[in-house]
Amino acid sequence: MLKSNMTPKNKQKWQELLAFDAHHVWHPYTSMKNPPPVLPVVSAKGVYLELADGRKLIDGMSSWWSALHGYNHPVLNQALIEQSRKVSHVMFGGLTHQPAITLAQKLIGITCDNLQHVFFADSGSVAVEVSIKMALQYWQAQGNTQKTRLMTIRNGYYGDTFGAMAVCDPVNGMHGLFRNILAEHIFADAPMTTTLKGRPVNWAPEFIDDFANKLAKHHEQIAAVILEPMVQNAGGMRFYHPEYLQQVRRLCDKYQVLLILDEIATGFGRTGTLFAYEQANVQPDIMTIGKALTGGMMTLSAVLTSDKVVDGIEAQDGSVLMHGPTFMANPLACCVANASIDLLLESPWKEQLSQIERQLKEELAPCSSLDCVKEVRIKGAIGVVELYEPIDTVWSQPLFTERGVWLRPFGKLVYVMPPFIINKKELGTITSAIYSVLKLKGTNEQKRG
Ligand SMILES: *Cc1c(COP(=O)(O)O)cnc(C)c1O
Repeated sequence: MLKSNMTPKNKQKWQELLAFDAHHVWHPYTSMKNPPPVLPVVSAKGVYLELADGRKLIDGMSSWWSALHGYNHPVLNQALIEQSRKVSHVMFGGLTHQPAITLAQKLIGITCDNLQHVFFADSGSVAVEVSIKMALQYWQAQGNTQKTRLMTIRNGYYGDTFGAMAVCDPVNGMHGLFRNILAEHIFADAPMTTTLKGRPVNWAPEFIDDFANKLAKHHEQIAAVILEPMVQNAGGMRFYHPEYLQQVRRLCDKYQVLLILDEIATGFGRTGTLFAYEQANVQPDIMTIGKALTGGMMTLSAVLTSDKVVDGIEAQDGSVLMHGPTFMANPLACCVANASIDLLLESPWKEQLSQIERQLKEELAPCSSLDCVKEVRIKGAIGVVELYEPIDTVWSQPLFTERGVWLRPFGKLVYVMPPFIINKKELGTITSAIYSVLKLKGTNEQKRG
């Protein structure tokens, strides 16, 4: 695991730390009793993660969609330091502060006109919970006791808390584990992806049929539709047609159902526009953001909503949104978010994105000719190579690190979503690592027969 070029003392220290980690510290979605290897990161700068043994890896994951500007950015660091000298945290009940007010102003300024109210929370999943609660309270306060369910599309991912899990894909999510506990919602077929075997798919009216039929049938019970706009992320890395989202918006209006758009993964430029819904020119009633909100520095999320939703929730005397996290609107996180949004808007991010997109298209295309590859698809700064069979990360991780890159495939998906500041050479190192590892995977399978 660790390279031998470490001093004996340092090596021993890390061996002990890793042994403790293996016995006592849970990592996401992995066995505690039989944990797979993890790599110790001691620092990070720009697109590079530095490991304890001195190796440097180019980060192809942006720490799960979040580190837009790379790591250890002096502007974000400075924002954190300055705010920590004023007030690091203070309760938000009965008190307020400038970092939160400024952030709300910025968020209202960069999102569509109808979104005028901001609820700050501490992680994406919690933002999704709050968005669901808003939708349910909206109907309840207006005396509609029928609308207690949600509708969504298959292949979605909205987080790991119970409300969020209940709308995640019922097959590749965690429904099986919690069958009798999760709320039962309504699932429409996932929209067609915009490519099939790498070829563009044109819009056909029947693509919305299943969604339209189910909404027509169940709308009296449905409080809201929730979906990820334009790109389904952790539930399958699928890109879909803007017409689908337009039809969803039209149908939600027709049947009086609220529309929640989850921009937690897609927000802040990742798909080529600041928010993905812009590509369909629709406005959500409720929107969740998180992940890249602080440029990957701190955990923070937010739910934005409209006058209509606020008026609905407060339709009865004394009815208010019943939520309030302890660390609501944490000043450090808000301050870093403000700095990150300014950095993004002042940067040539659109050019960076289109350069990344162009390079990913060019350099991942050859993967299509490998036997193990089903499809290559690219959108904005997201490159996806979908395989026929799942890839074993215990097998692939050392192969990627040997090639100097950090990638974390899951299931049948090998994907890259680099920090926007990545240069051509660094991105080239990632794409050639993907090609050469997948080529090896092919040969490996042939050997196994
Ligand atoms: C990651 C993600 C979430 C959950 O966010 P956490 O911060 O991990 O709780 C919700 N929705 C989408 C679309 C996501 O990608």
